[in-house]
Amino acid sequence: MALIVQKYGGTSVGDLDRIRNVARRCVAARKAGHDVVVVVSAMSGETNRLLKLTNELSSKPNQREQDVVVSTGEQVTVGLLALAIQEQKGKARSFLGHQVRILTDSAFANARIKSIDDKKLRESLKAGEIGVVAGFQGIDEEGNITTLGRGGSDTTAVALAAALKADACEIYTDVDGVYTTDPNLCARARKLDRISYEEMLELASLGAKVLQIRSVEFAMKYKVPLWVKSSFSNDPGTLVCEEDASMENVVVSGIALARDEARVVVRAVPDKPGVAARIFAPLADAGVVVDVIVQTPSHDGATDVAFTVGKLDIDKAREVMSKAKKAIGFKSLEVESGIAKVSVVGVGMRNHAGVASKMFQVLAKEGVNIRVISTSEIKITCLIDEKYSELAVRSLHDAFELEKA
Ligand code: ADP
Ligand code: ASP
Ligand code: MG
Repeated sequence: MALIVQKYGGTSVGDLDRIRNVARRCVAARKAGHDVVVVVSAMSGETNRLLKLTNELSSKPNQREQDVVVSTGEQVTVGLLALAIQEQKGKARSFLGHQVRILTDSAFANARIKSIDDKKLRESLKAGEIGVVAGFQGIDEEGNITTLGRGGSDTTAVALAAALKADACEIYTDVDGVYTTDPNLCARARKLDRISYEEMLELASLGAKVLQIRSVEFAMKYKVPLWVKSSFSNDPGTLVCEEDASMENVVVSGIALARDEARVVVRAVPDKPGVAARIFAPLADAGVVVDVIVQTPSHDGATDVAFTVGKLDIDKAREVMSKAKKAIGFKSLEVESGIAKVSVVGVGMRNHAGVASKMFQVLAKEGVNIRVISTSEIKITCLIDEKYSELAVRSLHDAFELEKA
């Protein structure tokens, strides 16, 4: 008998029939003799609808109140799923984040889990119940409701699996597993049987929204065996696990795409020690996630510093930089949107040369101009114009022959 944490995303609980389908799966796992904790997201589209309501009322909604509103989507689905399980003669009890006590910091809209109290869930399991936990939400030390950032139910599930020392965490979604690239973007994408935590972490942080980044961080840190599966099929899915020697033979495992990025250029910054820190410290304090950073060689004692931010952080980055203009001493600020980030990822790159040059050749052949390049040991990222994103992904997928196992 194993302890399994299952998580079902928005599409999987999108209407009552789908909730019944999830209930059947949970009851079957319980009948097979397992202890089951199930985490659910809000019904698909619901979190967007709630966010839109807050944004219609206020141009800059107070984030504490916004979290009170957007966390309600998951309150509905835990109640409905517990009812659906009971209708199928299973035992179930719903839990909101504060009822489990998923303690987070106070970064509203993007809170981090600090600790999880497993007492109530253990009691529920002991009573033979399926514990149905609301994803995406927690509570801070002061008792405020917080949310974990978009896609945060994945992180709730993996963090619970780590806290409960579960035997497996299964993320059920609308695709059969992790593919070589987004299967909704490239028809030739191939499902992977296994992928290393490290590669999955890169893919998630470079735009593959199939798993939230922090869920992969948790899984890697606590060595949680993490499965990505479909709630609509019985395909075994993809196992995200520790790297082994055979994985190094594959040079490129996947391609990620992040659209709607913006490039921020801080022009004519005095070129002296401490300037980079003065630019990036206030951004970090404001919780802006900065990616690819490029500093161009200085002339006349001044330098340009460019970086990219995701679409959710564009306004915040602009505001923070404008406020810090005097302290940093730059001349002007440019924000250019409509940028996409396309990346090839693979642990095999550590031992193989030529991946970067092949990537550049492929993009050149398609007439795609590369704006900025950034690399790490296991990935190469190019910033390109958004309009070329699909073309870039498909031609790279073909060139690296990712459709072949
Ligand atoms: P859920 O609502 O279940 O959390 P998400 O929409 O957050 O589902 O994530 C699943 C989606 O992730 C898929 O529909 C797919 O379009 C997208 N995706 C992006 N990259 C990949 C990839 N490499 N493999 C599988 N899915 C991917
Ligand atoms: N409902 C939240 C969202 O849409 C959390 C999640 O689905 O994981 O982002
Ligand atoms: Mg998701």
